[in-house]
Amino acid sequence: MLSFDDEIETIAIPALDALINAKAAEVAPVASSGRIRVEDKRIINCKADVNQLVPFKYKWAWEKYLAACANHWMPQEVNMTADIALWKSDKLSDDERRLIKRNLGFFTTADSLAANNIVLGSYRHITNPECRQFLLRQAFEEAIHTHAYQYIVESLGLDEGEIFNMYHEVPSIRNKDEFLLPYIDVLTNPEFKTGTPEADQALLRSLIVFACIMEGLFFYVGFVQILALGRQNKMTGAAEQYQYILRDESMHLNFGVDLITQIKIENPHLWTAEFREDVRGLMQKGVELEYAYAEDTMPRGILGLNSTMFKEYLRFIANRRCQQIGVDILYPGAANPFPWMSEMIDLKKEKNFFETRVTEYQTGGSLSWD
Ligand code: FE
Repeated sequence: MLSFDDEIETIAIPALDALINAKAAEVAPVASSGRIRVEDKRIINCKADVNQLVPFKYKWAWEKYLAACANHWMPQEVNMTADIALWKSDKLSDDERRLIKRNLGFFTTADSLAANNIVLGSYRHITNPECRQFLLRQAFEEAIHTHAYQYIVESLGLDEGEIFNMYHEVPSIRNKDEFLLPYIDVLTNPEFKTGTPEADQALLRSLIVFACIMEGLFFYVGFVQILALGRQNKMTGAAEQYQYILRDESMHLNFGVDLITQIKIENPHLWTAEFREDVRGLMQKGVELEYAYAEDTMPRGILGLNSTMFKEYLRFIANRRCQQIGVDILYPGAANPFPWMSEMIDLKKEKNFFETRVTEYQTGGSLSWD
């Protein structure tokens, strides 16, 4: 496993900007009146034609779109027979059943929130066709994930009303969603428009909450729990689905981090000390909410996991998210208590464009899973 320090390669932003401009100039066509020029493309508040995918400026977005397509899967391809037999048997404890149901209770609606956030919110405000191409693919993947959770609920014969309403009825799940909703509502409000520093910061804040806290933190206790079951040969069909979902979500997170970083480069005035502190506060709140969810889903230690381990794990992940977007870490010294999760995720794939070379993430994005 790579250590934190190994993974993060610090790149000075002005130097990176110069590099990007130089790259852009290399591929820029000779400007002619009315035709889109690569140097006119911008992630937000772009005045150039948003309908022309090429010439490419943000190749990282296009490459991620291709990698995501190469990872295509469908839930019904996964055999759920063993899970159904186990669920009907007496071989699962009450604590394991609680964990599975609450886990599905969060995820069955979480990916609908994610899809709505993209389609009704962020897509409108990202004014770049390469990034929109990825967002279209991501939106379909959120639909696949919602399908996967529904397929597990249906396969096990769970009470759909109970599971799908947990985001209203179970406080530890509701609190996570209530934290997220204002940041989704900002972007889905038809009156909301970017173009002022305040509005652009609101967009950036929502993108950070969505990528780094929702997809990058709120999914992780749930992923660990189901994959830990799978490692004990329990709920293997569900665990296989979660593994595919985790692979997709790693890509969503990476794309989100690249998007945030590029917006920072193009709009350095948004990245104030006050804004960065605001982000750290949100991250800290996210850790608290996710830890409360961990405690609620597993009040007693099971599967070799306990909530204290989750506290450390969430701190470790929050530090990683802070580093990825360039804010000071919150929990110095936090270590990963689940090294096996790094194998599941393959942290190399979590590297983003701004941390690594293109060839590495291309390889990461097209890994095959047998
Ligand atoms: Fe996602």
